[in-house]
Amino acid sequence: MLKILDGKAVRDARKTRLIQRIKLLKRVPTLAIIQVGDRSDTTAYVNAKKRFAADIGVEVRHIHLEENVDQDVILKNIKNLNVDETVGGIIIQLPLPEAIDRDAVINTIDPKKDTDALTKPSIDRWSKGDALTRSDLCTKVRPMYQGPTLYPATARGVGELLGFYHISLKDKKVCVIGRSALVGTPVAALCRTRGAMVTVCHSQTADLKKETLASDIIISAVGKPGLVTAAHVKPGQVVIDVGINRVEGKLIGDVDFEAVKAVLGDAGAISPVPGGVGPMTVLALFENLIDCATM
Ligand code: NAP
Repeated sequence: MLKILDGKAVRDARKTRLIQRIKLLKRVPTLAIIQVGDRSDTTAYVNAKKRFAADIGVEVRHIHLEENVDQDVILKNIKNLNVDETVGGIIIQLPLPEAIDRDAVINTIDPKKDTDALTKPSIDRWSKGDALTRSDLCTKVRPMYQGPTLYPATARGVGELLGFYHISLKDKKVCVIGRSALVGTPVAALCRTRGAMVTVCHSQTADLKKETLASDIIISAVGKPGLVTAAHVKPGQVVIDVGINRVEGKLIGDVDFEAVKAVLGDAGAISPVPGGVGPMTVLALFENLIDCATM
């Protein structure tokens, strides 16, 4: 039977394990979230993180700054959080207003508190395939390993969703659609590290259908409803929909879910939106936070 990759169910199953890990900590790290401006989608993502944090017993310090805040004020806030011993992780809720230099802001975060794995040292690590998670550490011995190196939360969430359903990436052809620094690029890096042969497609890709049809696994991270249609898929493939789009008040992904599901058939698998990658991203963020505190 076709598998529906249920991110909510996986998140809930993993949540119990995460709570057990948190209970073992001498001091539970606080997650600091810096939000700039009042975009409704950004506020919704921050609220989802706060709800999950409350559920697992982690404190969130939400620093909400005005849209037209001076960049120096953001940097000053980050520097204060860097030296605050109660704060174990700092994330900047993206996107930032255009006037703000995103790289300058992110690279002010102490790499040891880089829960989103988006500072230069973190990117260097995961782009070379040297990222480990706590569960990796249980199965691999890396004598040269020198501290926490993590994947950005969405990439980790995608990896854990596949892992939970025993969908291996080893020797698989993976088509990642989207190449952003936040999602597409780290997802592709994670898949490569786990042994996949990865093709990355983007807005300049001339024949997307040719690439998706040549793949075992399709991961779409674009933000365009209806991008992946029945014509882009074949029976037996795995389709992961990272996209989040609000259309007529409803959340939908990049994938035409019903039509694609019908083509994938019994041997296929697909993640829904909502309830697929979204809940896994929130879980993975807090797994990163706790990894930072314990590795
Ligand atoms: P982004 O920065 O706008 O990147 C979009 C990517 O899609 C770009 O690489 C772009 O190519 C590519 N693209 C645009 N049109 C395309 C087309 N017609 N065919 C193929 N590729 C195309 O967005 P993002 O931050 O990566 O987010 C992507 C989506 O994931 C959004 O819907 C976002 O809301 C969602 N998201 C979901 C989660 C979750 O937890 N589920 C987390 C984060 C983001 P170029 O590079 O050539 O411009």
